[in-house]
Amino acid sequence: MIPPDTEFLVIGAGLAGALTVHQLHLADRKVVWVDRQYQHSSTRTGAGIMNPITGRKFVYSWQFDRFLDQALATYRRLETSDWPILHRLHILKGLATPGDENNWCLRLGTPPYDRYMHEPVSPEGYPFLKDVRQLGRIDPVYRVDMHNVVQAVAERWGRPLYGEMRSPRTIWMNDELLTIPSHLSVILATGAPVQEIRELHLPLSPYQGQALLIRSPDLPRDAILHHKLKVVPYGEDLFWVGTHDRWDDLDEWPDAGGRQQLEETLKTFFEIRFDVVEHLSGIRPSSRTRRPFTGPLSGWENTFIINGLGTKGASLAPLVADHLCLYLLKGVAIPEEFKQPSA
Ligand SMILES: Cc1cc2nc3c(=O)[nH]c(=O)nc-3n(C[C@H](O)[C@H](O)[C@H](O)COP(=O)(O)OP(=O)(O)OC[C@H]3O[C@@H](n4cnc5c(N)ncnc54)[C@H](O)[C@@H]3O)c2cc1C
Repeated sequence: MIPPDTEFLVIGAGLAGALTVHQLHLADRKVVWVDRQYQHSSTRTGAGIMNPITGRKFVYSWQFDRFLDQALATYRRLETSDWPILHRLHILKGLATPGDENNWCLRLGTPPYDRYMHEPVSPEGYPFLKDVRQLGRIDPVYRVDMHNVVQAVAERWGRPLYGEMRSPRTIWMNDELLTIPSHLSVILATGAPVQEIRELHLPLSPYQGQALLIRSPDLPRDAILHHKLKVVPYGEDLFWVGTHDRWDDLDEWPDAGGRQQLEETLKTFFEIRFDVVEHLSGIRPSSRTRRPFTGPLSGWENTFIINGLGTKGASLAPLVADHLCLYLLKGVAIPEEFKQPSA
């Protein structure tokens, strides 16, 4: 049940919801945190890489350094020995064609690329990699254990209750459909499944991503190898391998075709021994503008949203959650670039 002195009802126990709940509790506000507790979510599935350089042409990620500073500070304060969050790594990017090598070298030595991109190195030390000419090094790079962010917040402030939002002001809890009292502020941090909530029309174009967790004795433990697939160290001999992406008929579940395609690509480009431990999937909450958005939910009283974290939740979420909480607690205006675009 929702206690009568509750001020904020936060829906969603992914990265966005967890960071919002954390900030509100730090400000000593009365918060109830709710999640429908499905097995799959973007936060559980994603590798959490904060990657400054993305895409085939090696483009600097939008306002990356601004987001990175806030993200590092937030995660350092949150992590504990039980719930480690930040892992310092580097990326070795497979340059497979002369065009790739050319695109890489064009970026070298120019700000902001010079902070992250380094001279390509020979792939000699990685003889198991197939069809690669050189390896471009991106350093520093961090992996954020996004699931541990949620766990750290839950341990500090209490686990989310079970509940499922049905419309922006109604929720299924304790076997009944509750209408949320009008004085209570509702924050929707429900990721891509927000599309299932009735009466909402948001500018999202979500897509599903599938990944494998594998064990292998043959892979480096300090580098993310990005060659056709991303292979990300998860501690000891465990690695995350992704992704297989789907844009149509979206549901939360991984499918046999996705697993087959991931295993085949891995066998083609990585000559390694491996066993599959788990097959993961989640739906990335991408916005049509590819930017995150937050603030009041258009058309609804006392209802707020944080969404659109897309493929970059690990770096974007701390700053966006901070702006939402500054707005809720101190009335500080949401910066234009984070306002909800029209549907
Ligand atoms: C394969 C894959 C790889 C990725 N890799 C990276 C990466 O390397 N780096 C990076 O930064 N990001 C990555 N991401 C993206 C990142 O995972 C997301 O940006 C981030 O997790 C989004 O968090 P969220 O809290 O907005 O949404 P979610 O994680 O989807 O959380 C939403 C929560 O809301 C709950 N919920 C939904 N609907 C309801 C409802 N009606 N009622 C109650 N609860 C509800 C869900 O159960 C869920 O717990 C990846 C994503 C995928 C799928």
